[in-house]
Order: sequence, then C-alpha cells, then structure tokens
Amino acid sequence: MSGTSIGRIVIVGAGLSAARAAAALRRKGFTGDLVMVGAEPHLPYDRPPLSKEVLRGTRESTALPFDPGKLWVQVRVATTATGLDLDSRLVRTSAGEEPFDGLVIATGAAPVRLPGDGEQLVLRTLEDALALRGRLAPGARVVIIGASWIGAEVATAALEAGCRVTCLEAGTAPVAQALGEEVGRLFLPWWSGVDLRLGTAVREVAPGEVCLADGGTVPADVVVTGVGVRPAIGWLAGSGLALGRGVRVDEHLRASAPGVVAVGDVAQRYSPRAGEHILVEHWDDAGTAPAVAAAALLAGADDELAVHDPVPYFWSDQFEHKIQYVGRHGALDRVEIDREDAQGFPVVRWFDNDGVLTAWLGVDRARELVKARTAVRTRPTPAEAGLPVQR
Ligand SMILES: Cc1cc2nc3c(=O)[nH]c(=O)nc-3n(C[C@H](O)[C@H](O)[C@H](O)COP(=O)(O)OP(=O)(O)OC[C@H]3O[C@@H](n4cnc5c(N)ncnc54)[C@H](O)[C@@H]3O)c2cc1C
Repeated sequence: MSGTSIGRIVIVGAGLSAARAAAALRRKGFTGDLVMVGAEPHLPYDRPPLSKEVLRGTRESTALPFDPGKLWVQVRVATTATGLDLDSRLVRTSAGEEPFDGLVIATGAAPVRLPGDGEQLVLRTLEDALALRGRLAPGARVVIIGASWIGAEVATAALEAGCRVTCLEAGTAPVAQALGEEVGRLFLPWWSGVDLRLGTAVREVAPGEVCLADGGTVPADVVVTGVGVRPAIGWLAGSGLALGRGVRVDEHLRASAPGVVAVGDVAQRYSPRAGEHILVEHWDDAGTAPAVAAAALLAGADDELAVHDPVPYFWSDQFEHKIQYVGRHGALDRVEIDREDAQGFPVVRWFDNDGVLTAWLGVDRARELVKARTAVRTRPTPAEAGLPVQR
C-alpha cells in the first residue's frame, strides 16, 4: 500500500531541504495536508549567496523557487518548534501544536558562538548578512575569528569594502580543520591582504576587543565569529528520538521513530560508503536528500527504498577563486599535491590506506568537477587512475 494518502505531514524548518521536501512530497503524489513550520520570518531562501553576493552588495534576494499556493503548503513563518511528542504524534511550537502522521525534520544548523559579552556577528541568516554588510565600512577594523570557509568569504567581502581585516585562527593554516595543514598552507598567498594570525586561540569576545588565550587583546570595530555550526536539535531533547551530533537517520533518511525522516544539515545520516553516520552540512546534500526522504515517508510496506549516499560535494568562492571539493578524506589519508599545471593552483587528491581515491580538490576547474566526482564515486586505485602507487 502506498502512503500518498496519509493524512498530514509536518515539515519543521523552512530552508533549502524543507522547500525541496515539500516539492518532492507533492511530486510523489502526496495529497494530504502539508504544513511547514519555520522560525524565520521568511519563505525558504538560499544561504550560500549570503556570504558571497549579498555580503558584497551585488544581490538582495536569495528566495528559493517555492510557491506555497501551487504546492498547497500551509507555511507558518516566524514559528519555532519547541518540542516533539512521539506518543501523541505532535510538534509543539511557539504558536500551538501541530499534529502529524508524517514528520520531516529540516531544522538545519546554528552557528557556534564564543564566550564573552562583546558583540559577535555570525553569518547564517539573511538578517545576519545584511547586518554585517552594513558594518563593512572603509577603514573599519574587522576581526574574523576562524580562517574557515565562512571566514575566508567574509574576509573577501571585507577587503573589497576597504576594511582593515584581521583573522584569528587557532590552527596552523587556513581551512586546515577541513583540509589538513599541508593543503591549507597552499591557500596562504590568498590571505596576503589580511593580518592572518595563525596558532592564535581566542578566550572571549569583550566589548571593543577580542581577548586571546595568551592574555593579549585585539581591538575591533566588528567581530565576526566563523568557527562552525551545530545541528539544530535542541527542540528534540527528551523526545526519545535517537540523537547523536544530529538526528540519527539510516541510509533512507528514516529516524528512529516510524514516520519520521530528517534531511539537510540537521541529519547525521548513515553512509554505506563511509561505513558510519556522517554530518555533511553542504548545500548539495541538503538539496538532494529530500527526494529520498519523501519516498521513504510515503513508501508502503513492500516498496523498495532508495538509498541516499552521494559522494559529498561543496564549493567556496573566496579571494576571486572557486574552490570545489568532492569526496570525504580521512585524517590519515595520503595527500597528493599535483602541480602539473605550473600556472594554476595545484589539484589535490587524497588516497586511503589501500591506495583508493577518497577526495579531490580543484580551484577554478569547474569543468573537471563531474569527472572528479565520478572518479571518487567509482573509487579507482592509483594504478587504475594512471598514477604512481605509493604506500
Ligand atoms: C553563509 C553561508 C554560506 C554557505 N555557503 C555554502 C557554499 O558555498 N557551499 C556549500 O556547499 N554550502 C554552503 N553553505 C551550507 C548550505 O547553505 C547548507 O548546507 C544548507 O543551507 C542546509 O540547508 P537546510 O535546509 O538543512 O538548513 P537551513 O538552510 O539552515 O534551514 C533550516 C531552517 O530551519 C529553521 N529552524 C531551525 N530550528 C527551528 C525550529 N526549532 N523551529 C522551526 N524552524 C527552525 C531555521 O531558522 C532555518 O530557516 C553555506 C551556509 C551559509 C550559512
């Protein structure tokens, strides 16, 4: 039996994965009531442009293609889910209870903030981006905490606006947490316009300055904290749903309770490819998971379920370059920095212990992306890839 006629589906969250879930449910024939509950005062919008075009002032709206009227979705904007009762099958919200037969959890992630009572800007919402843009005045002392993807994109916009930019990074290279020190150091020349202080840990943000772990201080007109995000699962505490760092779901995106799925940044999904539960936190995953989750939610008992386990992909636009990364390397993987094209940025490949390609990184090489993704998906050994085998 198909579940397309189950009575009422509630989607909690109103970002990319929520919008895609609503569309996928209707596309797959769901005809019942569909309700979307979103904490922000907006219909779903896209986030990657916030730290790029919006911050640089070349774009105002990032609204996603989503028409509640066409999809028959009742959207409750500015409404926050505060709890989940699995026995009564309802979501508690700031505006009352929402009973459900099926539930899609799509609450994304929230930025980590550092201790201290000084003003700290973060970058997750449209309001965050507009507030920060308004502060990027020529000559302003902008202190960015974290030489991360967000940190680099904010630095790019701040330099362009004529700010004096300092970046405090606890690690030994930009983006080293994601890519490792050896690869992170390749990006150092891009940061030449920034006072980049590596190995610099922050203790707290005080009014007008950032206090360092070594007792020093850095004066600031604007402080931007870009030290990562945490899945937004606080509202699920005590619900009985299995939680790890995010909502634990299987490879079909089903959570531990029947009729509940999770997608996007909030989902810690089982990846057969990785052999473990992983948090992906990239746009591509949030955009593609909902079709599989919707099918799982609507499936009858005898239906075969699709698996969501794509090769992870993300990009970042910074310092006038586009970085693209596909795959998922382990901390102990061997890094190969291919400088064959002396003019451009090297291509980086990672190989696991068995010599299997696990990840690829290219800069300004958009045309090679599909090939690289296929190469990682089909996991050739170095010999098969025509590369020297090193163990
Ligand atoms: C500034 C920025 C730049 C980025 N750039 C890139 C990039 O270049 N490349 C890339 O691959 N990825 C990028 N990303 C990541 C990408 O945008 C995310 O992976 C994607 O937005 C995740 O979508 P989502 O729907 O899971 O979560 P979100 O887009 O975060 O949406 C979740 C929604 O749920 C709402 N919500 C949270 N809690 C509740 C609650 N309790 N009740 C109701 N609603 C709630 C939130 O307010 C939010 O509106 C970027 C992210 C940001 C913030």
